[in-house]
Amino acid sequence: MSNEEQISLFDVTPTAAASSPVATPVGFDPDLIPTSAKVPIPTGTYDSMAKMAEHCNRCHRCDLGAYRTNAVIGRGNLKAPILLVGEGPGQTEDETGLPFTGKSGQLLEKILASVNLTTENDVFISNIVKCRPPENRVPTTDEANACSGYLKEQIRMVDPKIILLTGATAMKNLVGIKQGITKVRGQWIEQDGRFYMPIFHPAYLLRNQSRDKGGPKWLMWQDIQAVKAKLDELRS
Ligand code: SF4
Repeated sequence: MSNEEQISLFDVTPTAAASSPVATPVGFDPDLIPTSAKVPIPTGTYDSMAKMAEHCNRCHRCDLGAYRTNAVIGRGNLKAPILLVGEGPGQTEDETGLPFTGKSGQLLEKILASVNLTTENDVFISNIVKCRPPENRVPTTDEANACSGYLKEQIRMVDPKIILLTGATAMKNLVGIKQGITKVRGQWIEQDGRFYMPIFHPAYLLRNQSRDKGGPKWLMWQDIQAVKAKLDELRS
């Protein structure tokens, strides 16, 4: 199959596709993959996370596709009110196909549980890029852009009220903030009818174990309480 045949799959205008968010785009063949990063993924391309996962596992919109064992799409409640976005898969995630596994994932579950939140009920977890960057480097802007259509589709399908941005890459790519995480963590950013909050990445907390007032763990405790309070407010 030629690149042209695959690219032609997305010859629908974003406006036309957006008018029917879950309808199959005109000319869409579910067996084809949007190969070129220059061709946007129209809103409404996917009607299930499973279909999107199948595409991501065959995707080569950026070079990261050459390195993956498994694309890492996400885990948690597919209709969660909170979406947590990290940077990209690490080695364990690449092997298991699940995000935030290992020690970071265990700590994240503990942080959520401290305010009675769970990935089973309240949170869906995903990443900016779905394939592991070599040596766990930060994804490039081109890689993040190539993958952004998938994340946008996830946001549309999960439709969360709150989006938590763990770390600088998620902040930069979802809300355009380039400041350091320590400066903006804990602040609400209202955009497109959703509430975004930058928070520390659990891996950062593992490297900074201090529980002193004003330290990373103490600040995370403030932030997760604010998230729970916002969720309760939105649900009331
Ligand atoms: S990181 Fe995203 S865009 Fe790049 S190959 Fe993987 S799924 Fe495709």
